[in-house]
Amino acid sequence: MNIAIIGGGAAGVFCSIQLKTFLPQSAVTIYEAGNKPLAKVAITGGGRCNLTNSFKNISNLKNAYPRGEQLIKRAFKTFSPQQTYNYFEKELGVSLVTQEDECVFPRSQNAMEIVNALINKAMSLGVQIETNHRVSSVQLAGGNGKITESKHNSHKYLISFHSSHKDRKINSVSADYVIVTTGGAPKTEFLNFLKELDIKIIPSTPSLFTLNLNESNPFSSLQGIVVKNVTLSIPGTNFKSHDTLLITHWGISGPATLKLSSYASRYLAENQYNAPLQIRWMEEKQIEEFISYNILHSPSRQIQNTHPQSIPKRLWSYILSNASLREEITWKEIKKKGVNKLVQIILNDSYRISSKGEYKEEFVTCGGVSLSEIDLYTLESKRYKGVYFAGEVLDVDAITGGFNLQAAWSCAYSVAAAIHKSFYSCTTQ
Ligand SMILES: Cc1cc2nc3c(=O)[nH]c(=O)nc-3n(C[C@H](O)[C@H](O)[C@H](O)COP(=O)(O)OP(=O)(O)OC[C@H]3O[C@@H](n4cnc5c(N)ncnc54)[C@H](O)[C@@H]3O)c2cc1C
Repeated sequence: MNIAIIGGGAAGVFCSIQLKTFLPQSAVTIYEAGNKPLAKVAITGGGRCNLTNSFKNISNLKNAYPRGEQLIKRAFKTFSPQQTYNYFEKELGVSLVTQEDECVFPRSQNAMEIVNALINKAMSLGVQIETNHRVSSVQLAGGNGKITESKHNSHKYLISFHSSHKDRKINSVSADYVIVTTGGAPKTEFLNFLKELDIKIIPSTPSLFTLNLNESNPFSSLQGIVVKNVTLSIPGTNFKSHDTLLITHWGISGPATLKLSSYASRYLAENQYNAPLQIRWMEEKQIEEFISYNILHSPSRQIQNTHPQSIPKRLWSYILSNASLREEITWKEIKKKGVNKLVQIILNDSYRISSKGEYKEEFVTCGGVSLSEIDLYTLESKRYKGVYFAGEVLDVDAITGGFNLQAAWSCAYSVAAAIHKSFYSCTTQ
């Protein structure tokens, strides 16, 4: 049995390992376009590789996976984040550490430890890795391959390669199973090699980016300020994120911004990254309690001298000025109208997003192979028996925090388990 994996990234390499573990007698070959496998994993998490998350802070998977959470839910039943943790520690011998923010890294803080552990395991199991082999097309070698035609995987697929690489050894190969793990496609054309199969592709849009605001001074003078527990929202939509905010020279960054960019990825792209933005600096109850406390206990103090713990002094002065309050007035001098204005600014500070920040942080694309094309349990194509998809090539993506790599591990394992099952159901019939 020949199994071809297209793409030697996180999903491809992990899948090859699981396949050779389940089916040691199968021939598993990874065809990788680049000159080495796992090149992206080597740079993940700033070179430290945030390979998964404890999921302790995730009450609803949709908050971590804005697209594809149903698929992820099923994949986690087959291979959960806890199983991933155990696999890396016990099977691959990589000691892991869970940070306070629940992100999981190798204890060595070195992504190369993950890369080397995976490559060594794949090699020891006999996985073939052909680098410098960019796939140009996948097509049926015979028959029409529609899944309803046959219970058995009697079809073969012909995989052809781009001729541009000088180190390319082969022009084409045939395979009984094809697993597509080519990662995120910033341009839809990157998936042209699937054209012959007429697979439905959801156009890609960027996810996880910073936002530029069309605010000049004084907001931009606040750059460098970090505020915890901020809520960002786009008025007129349901897009909302709650996390730490970083004010930058051009606008906003930090986890709250990256989350919002992920949730609203398609909406923002459709609107050319021009949309209203609301910042809620604190929750209503907290700001009301803060004001009442100061009016009662610090009536003679100037309002500029007592700011909420979560709001740094520079930001507090900016907020007071936006609320048209003179900083020198004392808490006993503040009028009801002033209190209302202050509360309103804290709860609904309005801005306008003017453009998308340049690529700086972790970059993930949203879009890819439509989930309507695949069986959500096995990740097999509904129309082409023996063709599977895993990882970021699918229209599945996550916020930052190790969730994207976790999706790659779980999907890859699910594909291997499904092929294993399909192989045995064929041989026992
Ligand atoms: C800078 C950066 C930092 C990141 N940090 C994190 C992090 O810390 N934690 C986290 O969870 N996620 C992180 N991510 C996201 C994460 O890296 C991806 O979600 C993950 O690598 C996806 O795995 P994959 O196997 O689907 O794709 P990839 O790892 O991208 O692998 C796809 C492979 O397919 C190959 N390929 C593409 N087209 C072809 C073709 N036609 N023929 C043959 N080969 C092909 C590519 O060369 C590539 O090697 C980060 C991303 C970036 C860019």
